Amino acid sequence: MPREGVFRARPRPALWRSLPGLVLLGILVSCASAPPREAPRQPVASGRIEWIDVHVHLVGGRGPWAEDSSGAARAAVAAMDEAGIRQAVVMPPPQVRGGPPPYDYESFIAALKPYPGRFAFLGGGGTLSPLRQEAGQRGGSAEEDVRRFGEKAGGFLREGGAGFGEISAHHLPLMSGHPYESVPADHPLLLRLADIAARHDVVIDLHFDPVTEDMGLPGRLASPSNPPVLRANLAAFERLLAHNRKARIVWAHAGSDPLGQWTAALSRELLRRHPNLHMSLRMGGGVPQNLVLDAAGEIKPEWLSLFREFPDRFVIGGDQFFVTPQLRGPGLIFAGRAPLIRERTRRFLSRLPPDLAGQIGRENAIRLYRLTR
Ligand SMILES: [Zn+2]
Repeated sequence: MPREGVFRARPRPALWRSLPGLVLLGILVSCASAPPREAPRQPVASGRIEWIDVHVHLVGGRGPWAEDSSGAARAAVAAMDEAGIRQAVVMPPPQVRGGPPPYDYESFIAALKPYPGRFAFLGGGGTLSPLRQEAGQRGGSAEEDVRRFGEKAGGFLREGGAGFGEISAHHLPLMSGHPYESVPADHPLLLRLADIAARHDVVIDLHFDPVTEDMGLPGRLASPSNPPVLRANLAAFERLLAHNRKARIVWAHAGSDPLGQWTAALSRELLRRHPNLHMSLRMGGGVPQNLVLDAAGEIKPEWLSLFREFPDRFVIGGDQFFVTPQLRGPGLIFAGRAPLIRERTRRFLSRLPPDLAGQIGRENAIRLYRLTR
């Protein structure tokens, strides 16, 4: 991607026109949140807080390279202008083999070009994730897997990517019909990715639904694709974090986990132990006790004290979907939830002390993703 097309701080070679792509079949795995429980829809006021959303999905339609990413990008910019979103980091959702054709960053980077300064992008959700899942299912990682994975990852960065995303290690689908997805977070290919990210000084955006101890699947998540028992997975996650301290890992969807185990207390514990861990906050749905905002729309004290203790470790990752008007299916449903996520994010930022709002809303994102101002 040419540097004028995004807001990368450092120029990258303009190799973005090459579209090698993988011809892996995939099923789009939704990473969107469940619908928030309360739905006060107010028009967004103007003259307001500006923020950066580091977790945005742009969907132009199904297919290896989407047909109408430009329509999705137009929708994104219109919403960003209205909501005060200065910049957005776009990435493909995590996808798996076996369903509709996956897509990766190639499907949308050309559509971002008309909007210099508004977008950066991550890649790998449509290619690296399926590769890693394939290796995971075979049990272990052959040298050939590692080599192929490394080549793919390195190639993407040469095209101007700001990091890898959305990469998943444990993903609970929240809509029926989508597969359950789980590999150990310390899978050799994820360790390899951490090394590559560290070497190139870029982030990994990681979807990882934490399970602190073995638990039965909550009834509301019951589906044929989800296992009846979820196994504890935090130890592997901590091994990934400790593997390479120079790898900046942004753990996506803080404040809206589906299982109820990602508490403010767990966040504090992990942030203290792992200096390379960051979290992106999603003002979506989830188990009520872990939401950042209470029913009155105020920030809960346990989260506020966490933000004060770690003011430089949080960013906003709304998980907003922007789609072509032609899209049908889950992406369209997720896009319908984005206005409420924007509204709740603005509410959240307005309730933070101004210095924290500046850091969490903008400055941390600029530093972590090396964005230009
Ligand atoms: Zn996700």
